[in-house]
Amino acid sequence: MPYVVLLGPPGSGKGTQAGALAQALGALHLSTGDLFRENLSQGTELGQLAKSYMDRGAYVPDDVTVAMVFDRLRKPDAANGAVLDGFPRTLPQAEALDRGLAERGAQVDRAILLNVPDEELIRRLSGRWLCRVCGTPYNLTSSPPKQPGICDRDGGVLYQRDDDKPEVVRTRLEVYRDQTLPLVEYYRRQGKLVEVNGAGDIATIQRHLVAAATEAAAR
Ligand code: AMP
Repeated sequence: MPYVVLLGPPGSGKGTQAGALAQALGALHLSTGDLFRENLSQGTELGQLAKSYMDRGAYVPDDVTVAMVFDRLRKPDAANGAVLDGFPRTLPQAEALDRGLAERGAQVDRAILLNVPDEELIRRLSGRWLCRVCGTPYNLTSSPPKQPGICDRDGGVLYQRDDDKPEVVRTRLEVYRDQTLPLVEYYRRQGKLVEVNGAGDIATIQRHLVAAATEAAAR
């Protein structure tokens, strides 16, 4: 039952990579950002609450986020472990995760940090467009759709996330530095951290991630 935490700044490719990594490990892909957006599109109370934070690029409160994660981890499709994408993002979340997993006789096996230079992050986030139907991400400069504004897979209309607009992107990067970067040390001290270069092509990064998630000991 592997539990793998994927750490990295907004725009580092966590979402794209976490799905494929989870598939390779036979584990659940659990993205807190996706769960908040799902709640938002279903008009739930949790979605409304999350929106007020997400729109500003701020983090949703820890207690709300942690409760949502453990609700999800209790479902049957989480029985074979999970790749945690965008969670934990604060020290209290990391501590709550450790406690919650310990109660089930499990632990975080690996924390993988995807490293991408700042200029590249800003370029990726400001050029990111997603399909409204299937969520496939495109980038206007590095991986544009064949037809502008239309998804190659299903013809869905592409949209830009509100929090990918430049002013919000800046706040998200600052919040990441203040609140999430300390987790790198947290997992390093536990001997669980592996760093992967997130700036190459998607398939190479994926290979490195699978190796990092499955190798026996942290380097
Ligand atoms: P993401 O899709 O991972 O970039 O997340 C989008 C937004 O959802 C973030 O900017 C936060 O507002 C919120 N969010 C996602 N995960 C967390 C988390 N672990 N803790 C608090 N807020 C979160």
